[in-house]
Order: sequence, then structure tokens, then C-alpha cells
Amino acid sequence: MTNNYEASISEVVQRIKAAADKSGRSMDSVNMIAVSKTEPLEAIRAAYICGIRNFGENRSDELQTKAKAFVDLEKIRWHFIGTLQSKQAQAVAEYAHTFHAVDREKIARVLSEHLQSINRTMEVFIQVNVSGEVTKHGFDCSDWENHTIQQNTLLKSIARIEALPSIVVQGLMTMAPLNANATEVRRTFYRTKALLRWVNSVKEGRPFERLSMGMSGDFDIAIEEGSTDIRVGSAIFKQSPLASK
Ligand SMILES: *Cc1c(COP(=O)(O)O)cnc(C)c1O
Repeated sequence: MTNNYEASISEVVQRIKAAADKSGRSMDSVNMIAVSKTEPLEAIRAAYICGIRNFGENRSDELQTKAKAFVDLEKIRWHFIGTLQSKQAQAVAEYAHTFHAVDREKIARVLSEHLQSINRTMEVFIQVNVSGEVTKHGFDCSDWENHTIQQNTLLKSIARIEALPSIVVQGLMTMAPLNANATEVRRTFYRTKALLRWVNSVKEGRPFERLSMGMSGDFDIAIEEGSTDIRVGSAIFKQSPLASK
């Protein structure tokens, strides 16, 4: 049972390669995070044996339990991919290497304080809501191309977050709207890449180079539109070896 994810991981890798080829990119430019939220420890160990090193969690208590259980696994990296409440920030500061969902300045400030007190640094992504879907978290960028208030709000927040110690902003993170068709999904990712370019053209300092976008159902499109970090859960973990093909 240890290698029951070999087939699903290899399918995901093939999809990454196909999408990278199609868009003239190297597949090495895509970092795949295996979203192990709700999966048991054995699932993580099995995926690790298959070569996976990046794991994604969205609950701080679960992150803590899993990271503690696997401190001895070399080069394992934990990504916190969900919305984070201030009172859970300490565990994330302690155990995560990357936080994908900075959706407000306050959470970045709280994280930064915890990180400083334990002498750690963390990579973060700024979450943007470009689709305008009300259930989505993130800075409102639903009409960023035309809306100077949205532009200025985002830029000011980014500047203040970048100024925090112990936090290194890598780029933007987004999610496609639920039940969107392929055209809408592509448009969400395309507009996020355009937003990243625009932010880089106007902000001070080092340009952002990473885009966290794409999940099991849409990472092919995300890669074609420039994603550098895909978050893949069900395509890896939910393929039972007993499922009929
Ligand atoms: C659960 C989750 C994923 C993975 O979703 P799948 O469709 O299972 O690949 C990716 N990103 C976030 C933010 C998630 O919460």
C-alpha cells in the first residue's frame, strides 16, 4: 500500500508536462504542492516515498500535528493554503514554510510578529479575488483594470506587507470561481498574471515572480497562463487504487 499514489502522481506530472510544453515553458518552472489536508499521516508518508516534498494544509492544528510527526523527513516543506485567523497564526509561523493566502494586512502583521519572536522567515503570497465571487477571500481586484481605488488599496497594502520583517512576498495567489467554465477559469488566471505584471511595473523594489494558481481541476489552464505554484489535492490523493478504470 505504500506506493498507492505512484500512478496518480505520475498522471499529474504528465499533465504538468503537457501544459508546460503547450505554453513553451519548462516543467521545472512549476512547483507542485500536494494538498494533503484531511489526509492521514500514512498518505503523506506514501506520497513522500514517491518523491513529493511540498505538502499543503489548511488547518493550523492539523499542520502542527503533521509537521511534528514528520520533522525527520528531509527537505519536507509545509504550505499553509487556507484562510488564517490571528489566533492560529502562531502554529503556522512555527511550522509552515510558505503561506499562500495573505488576504489582509493584519494577518501578515501578526504572522510577522510571531516569526520574529522565533527567528524564522516565511514566504507568502498575497491572495487576490479577481473574479469578484463573494465567497472568495482576498483583496478585491474584481475590476482592477479600471478601478483606481482597487489598484491603490492593493498597492498600499503590498507596500506595508513587504515592509514587515520576517516575511518575504513571492507573488499573488488566486482561485477560479466555483463551477466556472474553461473560458472563465482561463480569464481569471490571465487577469491575475496581468495584475502581477502591472504591480511589478508600478511598485518599488524587487519584482514578484510567482503565481500560486491552479488546483486539480484547472491546473493545466493555470500553467498555460503562467502559474508557478499549483496546489493539487484530489488528483493525487482521491484516486483509490481500487477504483475501476
Ligand atoms: C483544497 C484546496 C486545494 C486543492 O484542491 P483540489 O481540487 O483537491 O486539488 C487547493 N487550494 C486550496 C486553497 C484549497 O483549499
